[in-house]
Amino acid sequence: EAKVRARGLCVGYAREMDERYIASRKLKADLRQTLQDAGLTTMFQPMYRADGTRIECCEALVRWTHPQRGPVSPDVFIRMAEDMGVVSTITRFVLDRACRECMRWPGHIAVSVNLSAHDLRNHDIVELVADTLAATGLSPSRLHLEVTESCLMDEPLAAGALLSELRAMGITIAVDDFGTGFSSLAYLDTLPLDVVKIDRSFVRNVTSDERRLKLLKGTVNLVRALGLNVVVEGVETEEQLAVIVENGAADLVQGFVFSRPLTSEQILALTSA
Ligand code: C2E
Ligand code: MG
Ligand code: MG
Ligand code: MG
Repeated sequence: EAKVRARGLCVGYAREMDERYIASRKLKADLRQTLQDAGLTTMFQPMYRADGTRIECCEALVRWTHPQRGPVSPDVFIRMAEDMGVVSTITRFVLDRACRECMRWPGHIAVSVNLSAHDLRNHDIVELVADTLAATGLSPSRLHLEVTESCLMDEPLAAGALLSELRAMGITIAVDDFGTGFSSLAYLDTLPLDVVKIDRSFVRNVTSDERRLKLLKGTVNLVRALGLNVVVEGVETEEQLAVIVENGAADLVQGFVFSRPLTSEQILALTSA
């Protein structure tokens, strides 16, 4: 498994969709139909130990290929689904798929699922997660849940209580896109968390700008001082990876430098060698 680097399918989201089309009733109707037809799929992007020797976890990333428009960015259709009040259908689908696929992978590999703001406002998520673990047989120690900094800020107290329950079940909780919202580290310290995923905006320019590197290192050190593990997202080049490794600025690395999102079969092939 050492030093295997997956060269995934390079799927870009077709043409940029203009705002009018995204807001259109047609696209919403198409999404509704896709959910009815179980037309979504899931890809999995590995998180590697920073030295590249081992995959520790794979993040489930939902995919929707529109019959005419091609791939639609999840940033776009998750937001649509939130507005339509149907995002829990997507969460249920991805959670189930993620747990099922993880059961096929070697036992040391975990799977990470993104939750939306709506999921954090509903206590139903606790039961959904418990039911899915029971139905699939996955150990809670192999499930990670990612919540963005901004959706934590929505309703901090309710979100904190809910995450505590999930964490008490043995699930790992990660803050996603850290550094893009406006939460303080003092606030972060009050939440039941295990992992911080540092947003890819911290990685851009680390090789050319000493100040950006200092910012990344300082942030990583503060997060570690709180006893949390650090994932650095969006590492794209060997140069960025080298700087991060030299500076000990990540526990795990996720990014195109190691692998794009892959199918479950590709994860299996990569990890069971
Ligand atoms: P995220 O959770 O922060 O996921 C990371 C995104 O960055 C993914 O985009 C991934 O393909 C992309 N990425 C990974 N490595 C690199 C890199 O080296 N360079 C660059 N430029 N990008 C990289 P994707 O799959 O388009 O997902 C976008 C966002 O949509 C996710 O951000 C997440 O917020 C949301 N999302 C995706 N799947 C789900 C889901 O199942 N449920 C929910 N609620 N949200 C999801
Ligand atoms: Mg994520
Ligand atoms: Mg992220
Ligand atoms: Mg994101």
